[in-house]
This record gives sequence, C-alpha cells and structure tokens, in this order.
Amino acid sequence: MGIADDDIEKLRSTVSIVDTVQGYVALKKVGRNWSGLCPFHAEKSPSFYVREEMGRFKCFGCDKGGDIFTFIQEIEHTDFPGAIEHLAAKAGITLNYTTTGQSKERARRKTLTEAMGDAVEWYHERLLKDPGARAARDYLRSRGLSGDIARQFKLGWAPDDWDQLSNDLGRPADVLQDVGLSFRNRRNRMQDAFRARVMFPIFSESGEALAFGGRILPGSDDPAKYKNSSETPIYQKSKTLYGLNWAKADAAKSGQIVVCEGYTDVIGFHLAGVPRAVATCGTALTEEHVRILKRYASRVVLSFDADAAGQGAAERFYEWEEKHQVEVSVADLPQGRDPGELAQRQPDVLVEATEKPVPFLRFRLNRVTKKLPRDTPEQKVRFANESLGVLEEHPNPDIRRIYAGEIAAQVGLPVEDFVSRIGNQRKRLSVEPTRSRQRVPMENAEFAALVLLVQEWDSIAEWLIEALFDSDANRLAFLALADAGNLAGALDAAPPDARDVLERAAVADLDLDAVVEAKSLIAAATKRELRQRTRMIDAVSLEEDRAAKLDLMALDEPDSVRALASAESLLGWLHRRTEERSAAVE
Ligand SMILES: [Zn+2]
Repeated sequence: MGIADDDIEKLRSTVSIVDTVQGYVALKKVGRNWSGLCPFHAEKSPSFYVREEMGRFKCFGCDKGGDIFTFIQEIEHTDFPGAIEHLAAKAGITLNYTTTGQSKERARRKTLTEAMGDAVEWYHERLLKDPGARAARDYLRSRGLSGDIARQFKLGWAPDDWDQLSNDLGRPADVLQDVGLSFRNRRNRMQDAFRARVMFPIFSESGEALAFGGRILPGSDDPAKYKNSSETPIYQKSKTLYGLNWAKADAAKSGQIVVCEGYTDVIGFHLAGVPRAVATCGTALTEEHVRILKRYASRVVLSFDADAAGQGAAERFYEWEEKHQVEVSVADLPQGRDPGELAQRQPDVLVEATEKPVPFLRFRLNRVTKKLPRDTPEQKVRFANESLGVLEEHPNPDIRRIYAGEIAAQVGLPVEDFVSRIGNQRKRLSVEPTRSRQRVPMENAEFAALVLLVQEWDSIAEWLIEALFDSDANRLAFLALADAGNLAGALDAAPPDARDVLERAAVADLDLDAVVEAKSLIAAATKRELRQRTRMIDAVSLEEDRAAKLDLMALDEPDSVRALASAESLLGWLHRRTEERSAAVE
C-alpha cells in the first residue's frame, strides 16, 4: 500500500515548506533563503536554511537536509507515509492509497546493509556478553576502548568458531556471501569470514553498516594482524572512510578533518576530544577520498607518517591541494607514537597537534634537513641544496620562493640569488601551474552548473552533457536530474553521494552567470580530455585535438557568437570522446 503520487505532488505544491518549518523553528529571511537555529542539533548561530522556491531545507552543521516530507519525518519521528498523512491532515487534503513498488537495486542495497547492520549488532552482543570474549574485553580495556567507547563505535567480537554467525543471523546464503560475512567452504557449507577477531564496523557517511575490519588479539598466531572486508556491492575502499559518519558534523563545523591510518587511531582522537578523525580502510589515501573529505572540510590534517610514502605521495598531495583547493598539513606527533596510544597517555598532545598542524612542505623540509649540521660554509651549502631538492617538489612558485627566502636567511646566502634559483626551477612535477583564470576549482565549477540546473533549469540545460562531470557524485547527480527532469525525481533516483550534492545545490545561494559557468566547465573537461589523449597518434585524432585546442582558446574571445560556437563544437567533441570510450569498453 502506498499513497498516490498525485496526492504527494499536490501536497508538495500547495503546502509551504517555510510555513511548515516555522511551526517548529523561528526563521529569518537571509538573501534568498530563510535561516534559523537547526532543530536537529544544538547550535548557537544559525546554519539551518530553507528555500521556498526549491521546497528544500539543509543544515550545514549536522548535514540534515531534504524536502518538506523529510523535515516532518525527522521532527515528528515518523516514516514517509506518516509524514504525508500528517501534512495532509493539516492541509485538509484527503489521500488516495495505491500499491507501489521499489526499485530493485535499492531494495537489494537495503537487504545487504540491513544484513550488515544485524551482523554489527550480533558481533557487538558477543563482545559484551560472550564468555569466550573475555580476552577481547581485557585487551580493549587495556587500550582504553571498553564501556561507552565500545558501545559508541559498536565494537564486536567474532568468536573462535566456524559458522556461528552464518547460522545465527538468519539471512540467505547469497546475502551473507554478497556482503563478505560468509563464504562457501570446500564441504559446500557456509563458513564465517571472520574468526577470533575484534571487530570494527565500517559505516557509510549516513550510518549504514558496510563492512568490517577485524583485528587479532595479541598472542594470536594468525599472521594477518588486520583483516578487512573485501570489496562488495555496498563497499568500495577507495570511496570509504572509516569514522566519517561520526566525524562529519564536527568536521563541517570546524572546517578541519583528521586522516589517520587505523581504526584505533580514529577512536583515540575521539577520546582525546577531537571528534573529527577518519581513516582509510587498508589503502592509501585516494583522490576520491579527498573529494569526499572536501565536502566537509577544506583543511585536511594527516595523522600518519605521510613522509614514509616518499616523494610520490608528496607530489600527489600538492596536486590535490591545487586541484581540489584543500590545504594538506601534518599533525606533528612524537615519532613512533600512534594516536591510539597518545590518547591514553597524553591526549593533550593530540589536541595540540591538530590545533597547530604543520604545512606539508614544511614537514618534509624539517624531516630532510633536521639532522644536517650547518656550521661550516660547506655544510651550509649542502643544507641549502638538500632543502632546494625538497622545495622543487612543490608546484607553486610563490610558495617555493617564500620557503627559499627562509632557507637563504638561515644559511646566510643572499636571499635574492637563492630565491631566483628556486623560482625558475621546476623539474619533476607535471602539475599545471595555477593560472589566475582558474578562479574556481574544477569541482566547484561542476557544482555551480548543478546549482543552476536545479534552480534555473532553462538557463543552462542546453549546455550540459555527462562528459563535463568528472566527480562521480556530481556526474550521478547530473544524470539523475537529466533523467528525472526535476529535483524531486532526481533525489528519489540518485545514490546517496549524488543525493547529497543535489541537496546542497537546492539551497546554494550563489550569484552565477550560466554562460560563464558553462564555459568554465567545458574548458575544464576539454583540458582533462586532452591530457588523457597524449598517446593518440593517428592523423584524424591529432587533427580533432588540434581543432579542440583552437576552440578552447576561442572560448574566451570577446566575440560572444564565436565563443558560443566554440563551446558548442567542444560539447560535440567531448560527447564523441565519451561514446568512443564506451564503445571501446563494450
Ligand atoms: Zn543541524
């Protein structure tokens, strides 16, 4: 049984979201939005916005957002039909009931995350009550991870047994296999994937259970200290950050997010009163991770030995700083101490390290030059040369110059000499230097286009194609909008990441010029595509690329007819590139 779509639309179009919210929250007009103190989290200054034309609300503090129905669901603690009935009763509308279906894929995802949610509870129960979990409880207590902490982070214990979970959970074999909780053994029986391990459940940003990391107890003869869930339909490591569900509110509030290496490090930061730490799940930090982090905070503090990964890692960090407009710095912790340990003995060290993080370049410089003496002229020159080597890694000439000035002063070399040497040198990097034209980072250009599409469809719709969107979340948001033709339909169909983009786009209050945004997006996509085509050698492709480069230059011409014609031909070129790629895949 469901409620007829017509009735839902009627409610949506007749009931004012601002009036409805004002029944619960005092709102003031701010620009195009209405704003007030969020009813869903405690705050002293307003970060809760409502936009009448869009029928949407969004809180930038706790991240809750949605339409009038979501608002009623949240504030009245009811489900979707309950919210509709509540609003209909107030508006005096009689509802018609029908039967409805749910999309298959969504239903499967729900089945899988629910099974994982049950597994989280099951392992958690074992940890709290199972006599066999005593050693695990003792171990966690010794690390300061018992009691409330174990409950908050839903820590668990996988018993030392073959198939307790598989038998107890009461889920079909295909579900258990799909989420990686069990596998079929040689005797064709379901066997638990985790055994004799302390379990750290990994949740999505919105709190759905996705995966587990399991740790052996000290003294175990299992060679793998950590065992992580393998990738499943609901779990991709390159896109998942452990702890983001607990960290996101504080990260958004403070503008800073801490990236650690392990589950216990994340919990350690929480214990020390820094509840904005996340960890990668057994992989290096990826660009996709950075995109996710950037949605909550632009200051990223690394709390692991980032230098151990070497120069390649440094180059990636600098590249991301420019491309995604994030600021990467390092929590300078005493060497050889991990955040999990420090949380127990010196929590204030953790707090201070996040309050005064060291810029990544300075951290690298300190590492390289710390042990170099600089008493004699010869030592000073060596010190200067080693420092220059580190500075060269940085793509921004102004930053190189500032650091070069400091180093020159330290060794007593003429500053101008030294700075001009470093200013012109850039050997190893392939990152494009910042140009003043790039006033917004690429991802923001994509977001701006989506804002326009959501808020002023006709102004930009004809300029947008799938190939313009590089970020997965933005691309999926675009596809959902293009497919549904309106925001409400797109929100229904979009996966969680894309839905979040759409929610933010609905209440964004930006002064945007559709033509300017479209051109900047087309330019970014063209450059990206051209970079990927460096290995093309056939004559036709070369000619096409040359034409695209000319069109790219013409985009900025003052002659607007010429510029728009170029934009159109670039869209055609980009579209053909996408078609070629999908043909190649098939
Ligand atoms: Zn809030």
